[in-house]
Amino acid sequence: MSVFDHPEFDNHEHVSFYHDEKAGLSAIIAVHNTNLGPALGGCRMWPYINSAEALTDVLRLSKGMTYKSAMANLELGGGKSVIIGDPRKAKTTEMMTAMGRFVDSFNGSYFTAEDSGIAVTDLQTMAKQSDYIAGVNAKYHVAGEVPDGNPAPSTAYGVFVGLRATVEQALGQGLDGISVAIQGMGHVGYRLAQHLKQAGARLYVTDIFPEGVNKAVEELGATAVAPEEIYNLDVDVIAPCALGASINDETLPTIKAKVIAGAANNQLAREEMGDLLRQRGILYAPDYVINAGGVIDIFHQRMPESSDEKMRAHIEQIGVTLKEIYSRADDEQAPTNRVANIIAEERFQSKG
Ligand code: NAD
Repeated sequence: MSVFDHPEFDNHEHVSFYHDEKAGLSAIIAVHNTNLGPALGGCRMWPYINSAEALTDVLRLSKGMTYKSAMANLELGGGKSVIIGDPRKAKTTEMMTAMGRFVDSFNGSYFTAEDSGIAVTDLQTMAKQSDYIAGVNAKYHVAGEVPDGNPAPSTAYGVFVGLRATVEQALGQGLDGISVAIQGMGHVGYRLAQHLKQAGARLYVTDIFPEGVNKAVEELGATAVAPEEIYNLDVDVIAPCALGASINDETLPTIKAKVIAGAANNQLAREEMGDLLRQRGILYAPDYVINAGGVIDIFHQRMPESSDEKMRAHIEQIGVTLKEIYSRADDEQAPTNRVANIIAEERFQSKG
């Protein structure tokens, strides 16, 4: 299989394939860039159809992590690992133990964390084999919950801070009285709704499952809407907190909101969606910038001398970074997603 000619290959520093037949493990680790520091990126377990699909994913995701860490002011590079298999059927302790050994073979130039299909208990198994497993032994927390290794509270707080900065920029006001439509009442979306409620926003929420929506209606006074209606509402802000590619050819023409600011990864179906949003006067908070609270959390959990306050202050920088992007996007008459990419490249390439 060709790696150097692969369409997603982007000068990745190290791509490694690992197979342990006895443990049932087939995995790939990709380190995209370590100019700013060791590569961080979660481990994803997914029933990929074949190894080519897994390679495409790991090349793309590891590159995304370089950009995310650079924009989050972290001394970290970008990497990712993928395990080929169905996490509900194929996962075993032997497999996670072997994965821990694979991560350890990078001697600290890559460390891993949680992603789809991998739980904190899996990381704990890996951590018996390697010191380079993040997301275990969490100590700090932004919102007063007991630290348990789940970065969602930090992600939600970062999205809240970033959404507030984006509303200030686009509408010239604070969050009191602003209407926000949230797609996805999961780990991040629900906590975002709590912060917004406290700030005086009016909430419209949806999910494909009723539990989170019912809770938001009862506890936060939110209005429930059908999943297919969330993007056409006459609201100030849309916060995508479910799946990727939710800003697409179908939803974009129906959007009435002037701000898009949410947690989901890869919100734009294509990069050109950023140009179209700009033409329509909609301010888009680049996803990997506004949702970096989780990666900032993972970084601080590994620092011996951090604190709740230091982690919170770092997450609040997301608002400052977004304002920098918006100001440059205005100066250069360019879409915010493209400006974010350029600033990230300036940061990690200048350290090469
Ligand atoms: P989650 O799985 O807890 O929540 C997602 C919610 O979206 C679920 O309740 C799901 O039912 C709902 N959903 C799925 N499809 C939907 C649809 N079509 N319409 C409405 N609702 C739908 O995930 P999460 O941890 O809250 O993460 C939310 C998003 O943020 C994901 O895209 C994730 O990749 C991204 N993200 C999360 C973190 C984190 O720290 N958890 C960090 C960075 C990015």
